Amino acid sequence: MIGKMRLPMSKVSKKLHRLKSNKIFRDLCSETDFTKANFVQPLFVNEASGNKEEIIGLKDNFVMSLEDTLRQINDDISNGVSNFLLFISSKNKSLDSFNLSFHEKVISSIKDEFKDNINLWTDVCLCSLTDHGHCCLFDKDNSINIDKTLDEISKVVLTYAEAGADIIAPSDMMDGRTLKIREVLDGLNFSMIPIISYSTKFSSNFYGPFRNAADSTPLFGDRKQYQLDYRNKSEAIRASIRCAEEGADMLMVKPAMTSIDLIKDIKEKTNLMVGAYQVSGEYAGICLSEDKGLLNMEEALEETWHVMRRAEAQFIITYGARLAKKIGF
Ligand SMILES: [Zn+2]
Repeated sequence: MIGKMRLPMSKVSKKLHRLKSNKIFRDLCSETDFTKANFVQPLFVNEASGNKEEIIGLKDNFVMSLEDTLRQINDDISNGVSNFLLFISSKNKSLDSFNLSFHEKVISSIKDEFKDNINLWTDVCLCSLTDHGHCCLFDKDNSINIDKTLDEISKVVLTYAEAGADIIAPSDMMDGRTLKIREVLDGLNFSMIPIISYSTKFSSNFYGPFRNAADSTPLFGDRKQYQLDYRNKSEAIRASIRCAEEGADMLMVKPAMTSIDLIKDIKEKTNLMVGAYQVSGEYAGICLSEDKGLLNMEEALEETWHVMRRAEAQFIITYGARLAKKIGF
């Protein structure tokens, strides 16, 4: 199926000016600067959220209602954040009919309020939508049904694009998703929306706090069927090359510190900018160590971010993005 869907490189729409369309993109892509403009702050919006709840281990990061999210973005803008990565969970989870009305409302409300003052990155994955919490749909024998999965991902992408998403960030690691998403966007006049693929994403022990926050712990099994094996470097680089060939505008490694050796190779092999996602377990390790008096959180964050940059990460997604300006970036 995927073989049929693959297009020759020349047919994949490649628009270099996609990442030049506004100042936030241009600053993010500057190869000589390293400032707060290179940081991306994740946000968790949950339809079921009442009072703002701090996520265990992730200091100053919350699961929020839409109203609290709008307030949080306002505060974050004053702290120098201009890129946000949005994770949305709705109340109803059903395999048969995804309900995306809350997702649509969240994205359009944020963009109505903050317009071009922010770039809204939208995580696209089925794991917060399926009742089993996996990033894909399965056949009866529990093998991945890739065609059905990509069809559902396409619906999510279309909803996000129509609601005003600035960037589509597919995180599922399914074969062919980047190409499919590019086709869907181009076919519906969203050819200027860039795709930032989670292209080298390992099956990792460091995702724990996130799964609680995004409400996406799988009900059965694990994600080793589709996420990468941390023992394999070639496979990890190949996964990013595949996304580049399928039309990704930017790539990403995740977790950051355990993928630090791959960033430069991926960049050189694809000529695309590659970011690093400092994932929840990495960030929580620093927060909890500070709580125990073992280190200074801001100094430790500063160190990790410089190391990511030294490894040639173009952007850093981190739960501490809202501290970057204060720390001196
Ligand atoms: Zn997922």
